[in-house]
Amino acid sequence: MEVTASFPRRSTRQIHVGDVAVGGDAPVSVQSMTDTKTADVDGTLKQIYSLAAAGADIVRCTCNEPEAAEGLARIVPRSPVPIVADIHHQYKRALDALDAGVACLRLNPGNIRKPAHIKLVAREAKDRNVPIRIGVNGGSLDKELREKYGDKVTPEAMVESAQRELAYFDEVGFDLVKISVKASSVPLMIEAYRQLAEVTDHPLHLGVTEAGPPPQGLIKATAGIATLLAEGIGDTIRYSLTADPVEEAKAGRQLLESLGLRERKNVDLIACPSCGRAEIDVYAVAQQALEAFGERELPLQVAVMGCVVNGPGEAGDADLGIAAGHKRGHLFIKGRNAAVVPEEEMVDALVEWAEFISEHGIDAALEKVDVDKAKREADRDRDLLLEAQGDDANNSEQVVELIRNRTE
Ligand code: SF4
Repeated sequence: MEVTASFPRRSTRQIHVGDVAVGGDAPVSVQSMTDTKTADVDGTLKQIYSLAAAGADIVRCTCNEPEAAEGLARIVPRSPVPIVADIHHQYKRALDALDAGVACLRLNPGNIRKPAHIKLVAREAKDRNVPIRIGVNGGSLDKELREKYGDKVTPEAMVESAQRELAYFDEVGFDLVKISVKASSVPLMIEAYRQLAEVTDHPLHLGVTEAGPPPQGLIKATAGIATLLAEGIGDTIRYSLTADPVEEAKAGRQLLESLGLRERKNVDLIACPSCGRAEIDVYAVAQQALEAFGERELPLQVAVMGCVVNGPGEAGDADLGIAAGHKRGHLFIKGRNAAVVPEEEMVDALVEWAEFISEHGIDAALEKVDVDKAKREADRDRDLLLEAQGDDANNSEQVVELIRNRTE
């Protein structure tokens, strides 16, 4: 993706959240957070796919209880974007989340306070090369720090909170870190980020916390995030809205496009990461699709999914997609089964239908096909796959057992 930043960005070190680079010369990335129970694997995955289709590069899920960690063990292998586990209070959930294979942890220094616990988590993250976001939040600042600064949340107190956490990480030689100093007050968060940018070169994650429902929430978040981005501060962003998280992802994406920090004019190809269920070589087919779409100006989201068991549902928000099943490609349009093609014609069919949709629209495409027949065919191949693979093709249950065996 071409990046056309219209103003200089502060120079930061680069870390990787899964395959998404954050900091350095990487494009500013968009994050959002699911609002489902993480233990609800199907519901959460469906939302993750919707968020990815709306522009999220990275998605955070809460890991607030053992069942959530078990959910992560099942979600991570099937997620199209890297997953960050949000940890509050219980450091053991951070260890569980690492077992589950998350791409990043978010720790709140205001509520995991024992140095031994913080260092243990940092050591484990270091061993696995998994970064941590130090997520300072004005509303849950350490009581002692508040008192030190006159019983107030000040930019200085927030920066000191981040620096204290960094010092613990330093003690164990861990530096795969990004930092946020969010507050619901826009002037407070702007000043806190400005001060933080002066004292560290770790990448920064921007956000106005609890911004509220749109339109006020959108305006507050944009005021804070855009002001900092225009000063060159910020490597990844999240809108925190009291709304469907898809709105957060869209807003983040649109803000970056409007600032010239991200550009989209061609097909936005999303693909599942492949897992034990995949019926095709997803990487190869996604690559072929990328090459086939090339520079064609088709502003559509197109999904390549490894299996018909979960593909059409997970990528239901994409304009168009194809899922493999039993040597056939099941084409779907906005989550509705539309046609079946031989496996070797999957990519050609995608291009053909993308051109049709781009010219005539989704409704015209759906009118052209027999959705009932396509659904019957997809259900048939889905049942055949389930019969052949069982319902735990990713061996997620083994990881769940490991998480369950961690003594409380
Ligand atoms: S192969 Fe199927 S279940 Fe696995 S990640 Fe792809 S779509 Fe999801």
